[in-house]
Amino acid sequence: MTIKNVTIAGSGVLGSQIAFQTAFHGFNVTVYDINESALTGAKERLEKLVTVYGTYFNDADRAQKAFNSLSYSSDLAEAVKDSDLVIEAIPEVVEIKKNFYTTLANVAPEKTIFASNSSTMLPSQFAEFTGREEKFLALHFANEIWSKNTAEVMGHPGTDAKYTDIVENFAREIGMIPFRLHKEQPGYILNSLLVPFLDAAMGLWANDVADPHTIDKNWMTSTGAPTGPFGILDIVGMKTPYHLQLAKAQKGVPGAKEVAEKIKSQYIDQGKMGAATGEGFYKYPSPADLEKDWLK
Ligand code: NAD
Repeated sequence: MTIKNVTIAGSGVLGSQIAFQTAFHGFNVTVYDINESALTGAKERLEKLVTVYGTYFNDADRAQKAFNSLSYSSDLAEAVKDSDLVIEAIPEVVEIKKNFYTTLANVAPEKTIFASNSSTMLPSQFAEFTGREEKFLALHFANEIWSKNTAEVMGHPGTDAKYTDIVENFAREIGMIPFRLHKEQPGYILNSLLVPFLDAAMGLWANDVADPHTIDKNWMTSTGAPTGPFGILDIVGMKTPYHLQLAKAQKGVPGAKEVAEKIKSQYIDQGKMGAATGEGFYKYPSPADLEKDWLK
């Protein structure tokens, strides 16, 4: 089986990047989101990526062609009608994903492989809703996909290795470096390291131990890392950490409720969603932590 037609479901921070990256490598891409207003937002994000890709790959024509080649739909059946692969990048909320896969299973052709970009959930949580357990797995990208080009490929116990091979190969074809996990692991490799790190930083902040810039400066000076946890959070965007902290709070994890409330009141409620909206813990396009003298 060869992958030609790819549908990206959910066109937010990551979905728009995956869509662009896939179109940039010559695949037919359809962008699906819940309504026309979400698709308008997607077009704006994708249009910004024309400049990002044109500059990064030094090929403005190819970037413009990729953008022009994209199709859009807010009708799921229409969006997947000839799809070889659906990559799901919808919110990190169990119920939303369960409902999505249940609906998708009814409208997608039998041949279609489903891949989830979920950062923290496991394919086995959703396999039974897909109607094709053997063709379902995780394909997890990192933010700023064009340069941080990792793709973690992770099946659940019922995934047929044949489809894992196809997806791994597809990842390579769109310019990714695939990392295939031997078994399910919440958070894959990257987030098994990153999530506890960001949680610890947000805990220090929510607990008033230190402010975000001080925490970042400490980390960057001590380790030589080019960015601190709050610089990373700005790139991730506020919604994903907010949903994660809410989920932890519901499970009774101490401190998680305070972190979620602080992200909401100080950032989300004020439209400060991170780098994508021009402000988060830093102001963009020239965040203080990237300035030459920041650590002095
Ligand atoms: P986001 O909030 O920026 O985007 C989510 C998109 O999904 C929005 O466009 C929204 O309109 C759409 N949506 C909502 N309900 C939907 C539905 N039922 N069907 C289709 N679309 C729907 O979120 P994001 O940061 O892009 O994260 C999306 C997924 O990607 C999550 O599973 C997250 O864990 C994962 N992820 C995020 C990052 C990151 O750095 N932001 C990195 C890797 C993976």
